[in-house]
Amino acid sequence: MNGIVIIGAGEAGTRAAFALREAGFSGNVALVGTEPHLPYERPPLSKPLDGAVQMKPICGAEALQAAGIDYRQGVSALSLDPDARAVALSNGQTLAYDRLLLATGARPRRLPCPGAERALDFRTYADAAAIFSRAENVKSVAIIGGGLIGMELAAVLRGKGITVSVIEMAPKPLGRAVPPRFAAKLHTRHEEEGVVFYLGQGIGEITDDAVLLADGSAVPAAIVVSAIGVVPDTALAEAAGLAVGNGILTDSFLRTGDPNIFAAGDCAAVAQPGGGHMRFESWRNARNQAEVAARNMAGGREIFGAIPWFWTDQYDLGLQVAGLPQPDHQIVIRPLDGGELEFYLDGGRLVAAAGLGLGNSIAKDIKLAEMLIAAGISPEPQALADPGVNLKALLKSARAA
Ligand SMILES: Cc1cc2nc3c(=O)[nH]c(=O)nc-3n(C[C@H](O)[C@H](O)[C@H](O)COP(=O)(O)OP(=O)(O)OC[C@H]3O[C@@H](n4cnc5c(N)ncnc54)[C@H](O)[C@@H]3O)c2cc1C
Repeated sequence: MNGIVIIGAGEAGTRAAFALREAGFSGNVALVGTEPHLPYERPPLSKPLDGAVQMKPICGAEALQAAGIDYRQGVSALSLDPDARAVALSNGQTLAYDRLLLATGARPRRLPCPGAERALDFRTYADAAAIFSRAENVKSVAIIGGGLIGMELAAVLRGKGITVSVIEMAPKPLGRAVPPRFAAKLHTRHEEEGVVFYLGQGIGEITDDAVLLADGSAVPAAIVVSAIGVVPDTALAEAAGLAVGNGILTDSFLRTGDPNIFAAGDCAAVAQPGGGHMRFESWRNARNQAEVAARNMAGGREIFGAIPWFWTDQYDLGLQVAGLPQPDHQIVIRPLDGGELEFYLDGGRLVAAAGLGLGNSIAKDIKLAEMLIAAGISPEPQALADPGVNLKALLKSARAA
């Protein structure tokens, strides 16, 4: 037995390694990771405490050792031979496997404009350390991209008193993943905090001290950060002949076209019950998929069907979204003290929920909403809208029914 090799020691790869042991797998587990650190969490990078970059390890060296996980730190997988079931590593070694997990994550999308190399990326600990150490000595930062990561960074930098400009191609920030009313509320909050927005604007060029917009105007900036999204890291899979679309294509068991190779996390595009493949970029998704892939690699046959969930923290506000809200869903609003919930109904059935509130105040309600979604119930919209109706009681009566 050669055991299981995991490529990528991010959230998905590391969680999968431990989940293999939890599933009772006692063979060899090798975890191969390019980055020169112990596995660490990415979300804290854009939510620094006291303005300092946080390195939050997913696990310590002792935990890896105790679980018998052979962690190859600072080593890259260069190529993959599915016929020989072998992976060539950057240190000259070759690892043979019985089963392999691709957990290669995603890489920052590149700006296509002149001067793009002047922009800093924001994906790794090294990126975060570079941004925050340079930000100590400057007065202005331009962030290209008004998505979740760009807006989290804008909030942190405003907290340091830095002039922040956000340049976004779309007419509004946060248009991709955040429900429109909450995106608008966060946008307003950023404006109140002094963030200057350039919306509906393409980039002409990045110079030493400014971003030149497509309309010819200049946004002065001592530092430019590119936060225009990520692309799944599919290079190894593609070179090995595995099917790739917007991610490494898997079936609902997270297995690629090769029955010995699985994929999980930001790099995986998973077959959906209604057809097509879907890729998610969130912390919990990486963990959930890793756990299912690990159990299936260990001999299980589990379909991946977790409800998507993500959160973002900006200023003192926390947003959480469970499920996939769609424009054609019926929206029911529930006001809360210091916040608001939105429930999304599809043909009467509760399919998604989102909340925006102070700190972590909406977390409990979103957890209950997730349980209601999982229970597949069709609650009365009036009950969802009424803050006096306890969601726990709703869940209890739904279960009883
Ligand atoms: C700044 C930031 C803030 C975020 N905040 C949130 C948040 O608030 N909420 C939320 O839900 N999500 C958030 N996310 C997203 C979340 O962190 C990711 O969805 C999650 O980390 C994905 O995990 P992953 O393991 O699939 O990929 P990754 O974390 O990208 O890990 C993949 C790893 O594989 C390595 N690798 C790639 N190719 C190879 C190779 N050939 N050989 C060896 N190693 C390789 C990479 O170096 C990388 O370390 C944030 C992400 C960032 C960058």
